[in-house]
Amino acid sequence: MAELVQRYLNLIRDEHAGVTDGALATYIPELADVDPNGFGLSLSLSDGYVYESGDATVEFTIQSISKPFTYALALDQIGQDAVDARIGVEPSGEAFNEISVDAAKKTPKNPMINAGAIAAVSLVPGATPDERFARIREFYSACAGRPLDIDPAVYASEKKTGSRNRAIAYMLQSFGVLDGDPDEVLDVYFRQCSFKVTSTDLARMAATLARMAATLARGGVNPMTGRRVTDTVVVQRTLAVMVTCGMYDAAGDWASAVGMPAKSGVGGGIVAVLPGQLGIGVYSPLLDDKGNSVAGSACAGACPNG
Ligand code: GLN
Repeated sequence: MAELVQRYLNLIRDEHAGVTDGALATYIPELADVDPNGFGLSLSLSDGYVYESGDATVEFTIQSISKPFTYALALDQIGQDAVDARIGVEPSGEAFNEISVDAAKKTPKNPMINAGAIAAVSLVPGATPDERFARIREFYSACAGRPLDIDPAVYASEKKTGSRNRAIAYMLQSFGVLDGDPDEVLDVYFRQCSFKVTSTDLARMAATLARMAATLARGGVNPMTGRRVTDTVVVQRTLAVMVTCGMYDAAGDWASAVGMPAKSGVGGGIVAVLPGQLGIGVYSPLLDDKGNSVAGSACAGACPNG
C-alpha cells in the first residue's frame, strides 16, 4: 500500500513537473529570487505517516498559509463569539490585499484576506508583540511537529514594502477592529508571513487539522507528537473558511473543482486538508494571476482522487 501511494505521488509530481505557466511573486526580491522549478509534494496521513516527492525539504516562506492557523489560534484563545465580533466569514470575491471591510459591520469580510488576517493577529493575546509572536510560533510549531523559524530577510522586506498592509491596519484601527497598535500588530503579521516551511511541514500542519476534525470528542491532537493543540470546534470553523475563502478570489473555482479546505500563499505553497484522512503540502512557486501556485493547485487537486 505504502509503495502504491508513493508511486502515485511521484506520478502526480511527474505529470505537473513541466509546468512553466505562471510567474514568481516579485513584490519583494527574496520571492523573485527563488528557483522557479522547485517542486515538492508531501502527504501526511492523520496517523503521522508522511510521503514525499521532489523538493519536499526545500524551505520557502509560509506567507498567507499562516492565515488559517492564526485564525484558529485566536478562536482557541478568546472564543468564537469574540472573534466573530471582529472578523466575518463571508467570501470577499476580492484580491487578498484589498483595502476593504464589510459595508455594514465595518469588520473584515473573512480571515483569509489580509484585512481579516491582520485583525486575527491582534486577537491573539500578548502584552507585547514578542509575546504575541511567541504564542503564534508555538502554535504553528506544535502543528508542524518541529520548531519553525522565520526568514529574517523576507521579514525585513515585508516590513519595508508593507504600505498596503499598513493602509489596511490603520483602516481597521479607525473602525475599532484592531486590538493594539497597528504597527505592532503588523510587525507580528510580517513575522508570521515569514516562517520558513517545507511542503512536508505544510502536510503535517494540514494533517493536524485533518485529525482534529476527526476527533470530535478528544479535541485536536498532533499526529506526530500526540500533543493536543486546540479544540475541534475551532478546527471546524477554520476548515469552513478555508473552503469558502482559502484560495483568494479563485475560491469558488477551487471549491467546485477540488472541494477540499485549502490555503495558498505567494511563497508558492498550498496546504489542503482532507478532514479525518490526511494533509497535503505542495510547493511550486510559479503563481497564477490570483496568487495561487499553478502546479500546486493541479497537484493538490489530484492527490485525494488516487
Ligand atoms: N505577506 C504577504 C502580504 O501580506 C502575503 C500575501 C499572500 O501570501 N497572499 O501581502
